[in-house]
Amino acid sequence: MSFQQELESVKETALKELGAIKDSAALDSFNTKYLGRKGIFRDLSSRIPQLANEEKGQAGKLLNEFKNILAQRIAEKEPDLKSAPQVSGDLPDFTLPGEDKNIGRQHPVYRTLADICGIFSRMGFEIAYGPEIEDEYHNFTSLNIPLNHPSRDAFDTFYLNLKTEEPKNERTGKEAESSSVEGGRWLLRSHTSPVQIRVMQNRKPPLKVIVPGKVFRPDKPSPKHFPMFHQVEGLMVGEGISFTHLKGILDVFCKEAFGASTEMRFRPSFFPFTEPSAEVDITCIICNGKKVNENNESCPTCHGEGWIEILGSGMVHPNVLENVGYDSEKYTGFAFGMGVERIAMLKYHINDIRLFTENHIGFLSQF
Ligand SMILES: [Zn+2]
Repeated sequence: MSFQQELESVKETALKELGAIKDSAALDSFNTKYLGRKGIFRDLSSRIPQLANEEKGQAGKLLNEFKNILAQRIAEKEPDLKSAPQVSGDLPDFTLPGEDKNIGRQHPVYRTLADICGIFSRMGFEIAYGPEIEDEYHNFTSLNIPLNHPSRDAFDTFYLNLKTEEPKNERTGKEAESSSVEGGRWLLRSHTSPVQIRVMQNRKPPLKVIVPGKVFRPDKPSPKHFPMFHQVEGLMVGEGISFTHLKGILDVFCKEAFGASTEMRFRPSFFPFTEPSAEVDITCIICNGKKVNENNESCPTCHGEGWIEILGSGMVHPNVLENVGYDSEKYTGFAFGMGVERIAMLKYHINDIRLFTENHIGFLSQF
């Protein structure tokens, strides 16, 4: 092989190697291998003096051309490699799951509230809202709660020092309709029942509403009590509405909310705004009414009763209907109310109401 043929072959190999280079470290060693002090180019140059005289000129010229081409190609390649991402070591495993983005979720109390509202909406109930700041008339007097009733005690309600401001509607921000002349002091509503009065004052029967919202009571925080919680109130008024309708509506609710095998019972009770009144119990959703757990020990959720209380209900007291100008001889109705946190605690097996407001991501991300 002549020197010229050897040069062509080296040139071909070098350009092929250069084309395959993917990072700057490989380009550096390529540079050293060909153009370095002990490189291939130096080795080829050192052989020129031993060539025949007529070959020397041509060989020197070709070698120079080769050197220039190589230097130029290396210079062209360098900036591309510097901007390209450097892969060192093993390639990443592209089959691994992607990074989990936490997009948040619905709070268990609001999820429960939405579930409850959904069940009653499907039975034709409208959703109504009212102000959280109420007057004594709507919170107590109009609901047949007498002045000497213990729930009017300053320790059972938050009273406010408002002089001129009108209560605002919690949804629209607009001022609520003027309170009655016997409105009395302002307070944070202790139940959602005043919205029953506000709805009936503005509407004629028949009507069928549910009222979700926050209520306030000056309770010391404990596993079962918190100064703010949520209620859902229901009201149906019309001609010929009886206890049978109440039972039918609540039976559908209990089965939809807690499962088709859930049974319901009424227990006589007393509320000033309903007559007759009843507490509603359902078969314990933990032991399914068996009263004992799988170890044959007394069920801790229902305390071995087999039943758990979930809401209060009754037929709207004639005085309440008369207070809003309805003819209690012509119209009858039923009402019921439940604590949303209590339902959520039963449904999701939560043993402390305070967990709902602690904003602990570990707790909230379970739902
Ligand atoms: Zn039980």
